[in-house]
Amino acid sequence: MPELPEVETLRRGLAHSLPGAEVRAVRVRETRLRRPVRTRRLRSRLVGRSILAVRRRSKYLLVDVEGDTHVVVHLGMSGTLELTPATSPLQTHVHVVLELDSGLELRYRDPRRFGLVDVLSTAELMADPSFTTLGPEPLSDTWRTTDLVDAARGRRVPVKAFLMDARVVVGVGNIYANEALYRAGVHPRRSAGRIAESRWERVHGAVREVLLEAIENRGTTLRDFHDSAGNDGGNAAALRVYGREGEACGTCARPIRRLVLGGRSTFYCPRCQR
Ligand SMILES: [Zn+2]
Repeated sequence: MPELPEVETLRRGLAHSLPGAEVRAVRVRETRLRRPVRTRRLRSRLVGRSILAVRRRSKYLLVDVEGDTHVVVHLGMSGTLELTPATSPLQTHVHVVLELDSGLELRYRDPRRFGLVDVLSTAELMADPSFTTLGPEPLSDTWRTTDLVDAARGRRVPVKAFLMDARVVVGVGNIYANEALYRAGVHPRRSAGRIAESRWERVHGAVREVLLEAIENRGTTLRDFHDSAGNDGGNAAALRVYGREGEACGTCARPIRRLVLGGRSTFYCPRCQR
């Protein structure tokens, strides 16, 4: 499933080439995504308008278009966006296509169809519950250790589930929560409310580090993820505990263990994480 680094990798690829292009036409080949695709609305709000910027909020890509208009894309479990010449053959599972005046097409492809493509005005975006409930961005300069300390006060939830709660901080999915807690030396099952501020400092730093490293490596491809040019991400080799049950910890050489927390696979070193 694409997480923040994969979405940010896509964003960076698209931000290079999309702004300035004008939408010539919208083709919808399948409307049955997580929310039904609103074909007429996409056409009426996008055709003839130019793309201004490509942003990200949590795991949503926001393509800003002239006239206070935003294409909102969520990749779900298996979505990708590819910018490709209009002449290149259409793959299976391409559900939405924006034809651009540059001779390129932006194609949304999603075999499992849990993703989302919609268009919202700025006011609609600001009022949308998918966005109003979101916590801070982990890579923003305004996200501080004290935000974690304050949010954790009195909470008995395991720290791993706490970090994966989008109201606390957005975009920390299962892979990166595992990796960050390993690097911070914090046991994933420890209660969030029982972690000292000095250790939150390490968790805060580790969350940023694992996300930035994954973006540097152009995302983690486990199954489906590809960047906007169709390449695999290169981060899988940088994972130190995720998917490594039974392998030796890189620090103490004890075997990495796995447990299930909140229904999700959790990997940790029983010696290095307390
Ligand atoms: Zn260890």
